[in-house]
Amino acid sequence: MKDPPDNPTDPFSSFAAADKAADEPLIRVMALHALAYCERLFYLEEVEEIRRADANVYDGRRLHEELEKEEEAVTLELASEALGIKGKLDAVRRRSGGWAVVEHKKGKSDKGGPWPSDRLQVLAYALLLSEHTGRAVNEAVLHYHADNRKVRLTLEPEAVLAEVRAAVARARELRASLERPPVAVPEKLCRTCSLAPECLPEEERFALSETDKPQRLFPPDDDRRVIHLVEQGAAIRREGEQLVVVFPDGNKKPLPGMNILALVLHGNVQISTQALHFCAAHDIGVHWLSYAGHYVGALAPGAGKVQRRNRQYQAMQDRALQIQLARRLVEAKAENQLRYLLRAVRAQRELDQVPEVQQGLSQLRLTLKELNRLGEAADAQELTEPQALEVLEKIRGYEGRAGRVYFGLVPFLLKTAAEDFPAFQGRSRRPPKDPFNALLSFGYALLYRDCVAALLAVGLEPALGFLHTPRSSAYPLALDLMELFRLILWDIPLIGSVNRRQWQKSHFEATPGQVWLGKEGRRQAIQLYESRKQEKWKHPVLQYSLSYARTMELEARLLEKEWTGQPGLFARLRLR
Ligand code: SF4
Repeated sequence: MKDPPDNPTDPFSSFAAADKAADEPLIRVMALHALAYCERLFYLEEVEEIRRADANVYDGRRLHEELEKEEEAVTLELASEALGIKGKLDAVRRRSGGWAVVEHKKGKSDKGGPWPSDRLQVLAYALLLSEHTGRAVNEAVLHYHADNRKVRLTLEPEAVLAEVRAAVARARELRASLERPPVAVPEKLCRTCSLAPECLPEEERFALSETDKPQRLFPPDDDRRVIHLVEQGAAIRREGEQLVVVFPDGNKKPLPGMNILALVLHGNVQISTQALHFCAAHDIGVHWLSYAGHYVGALAPGAGKVQRRNRQYQAMQDRALQIQLARRLVEAKAENQLRYLLRAVRAQRELDQVPEVQQGLSQLRLTLKELNRLGEAADAQELTEPQALEVLEKIRGYEGRAGRVYFGLVPFLLKTAAEDFPAFQGRSRRPPKDPFNALLSFGYALLYRDCVAALLAVGLEPALGFLHTPRSSAYPLALDLMELFRLILWDIPLIGSVNRRQWQKSHFEATPGQVWLGKEGRRQAIQLYESRKQEKWKHPVLQYSLSYARTMELEARLLEKEWTGQPGLFARLRLR
């Protein structure tokens, strides 16, 4: 690369001299493009390092590949310390005595003109090219392929320099900021933004006023699959560009490569180092569960970047916020338990006459009332640290009480024949003492895995929670998130399947005092859980439909908004 022209009258030289001292990392021209589109988009991509290629991005890449084949585009990579930018130009053309920058765009022009972000992009390229060639670049062409328009821009060097300089300065300012910029662009820009599923602009707007129903820009389901391997002695290997399961008898089965979201290895299932490398490179999570169904650990993609972790850490130090979130979560859980039990009582009229059931329902109502009273009292005053800790402990106490009442009533909902499914006598965790407890624990382990994956996908640190304390090896925030889904994702389908008599003794293995699922039992439980995750439902507040699997990630994103954006939407999901 040539040095910038040594010309004191050249406006470019003065900019270069002023900025050389800054010694900052170079800004990608595509990042300036994002900045001109939406400052929040720039921040999400460049500071929080959230990047996502959507269909538009792939279309654009395909167009460039086609153009390269036709030699209509070349990739010219240029960087300038002086300008503080770097970028890849699509093409350059000779013009009378100089050069013109050419940029191809897949989409349409802005009613025959350039979009502001595209304009800034070519201005920055023109400066890079000018520095590289040592000659002024006075023309840029934006070719919009969707409406076949070629928009020509005549460039005034000083104006171009001023405009790019202002953008670089703003980009640097944002890069140094800890605050994510607010949603401040017209809705139509969000509809075509690749980061809308991470940004959730409609939900942010809705949280402000709760008037207009938000449009769903969050994908309703994920076409990538979670694959469970329960065959003991099986091994996963990499063969070329795909993963293959090798069974103990030597048979092989290829896995659907890029369509895997996560692999869950149950018990004695091996995975090779090469297969792990493949998973890490393709954002495929790998999770290990013990033979008995306990969660062991994970290699999970999407670890949060520093900014997001910092903000979460600060938020979790805020006792008022911690109390508010803990209260909301326990309220959601207990209210859903109550609603579910009431629904069961309506369906089985005879339960209406059972005194234990009536008593349990009253206790749940009372717990909710007391929790509410406690929350209101906490909101009304500034709490000292010991007072705040006491409130948190009481909230945990209400959660525990609601759980005991709920599990005390579950036996009334189960229609099982004692000979093939011994009675459920209340919750026993470590170890599960009967088949129903074994099923509960196994399903919760699957749910825990999904909650860890959802938190990591959002970039949250699962070890920093607000309701659970780090008493075991389990991540507190994953346990927190689970509270919203235990009933909806596992208890309800499980109780339904037990009542349909889908479980037999042969599904379980037992030693004195402990019961766990055998191979076929695990298969059936996984199938039940995974198909529940794919069911769609309508979010009661946001009013749009999405799968339960996506709801977990949505709630994790709404949780992050409690401290990074518009709060108020987390833990509002309720059973109808
Ligand atoms: S979704 Fe909208 S607000 Fe969010 S980054 Fe994209 S354009 Fe900006």
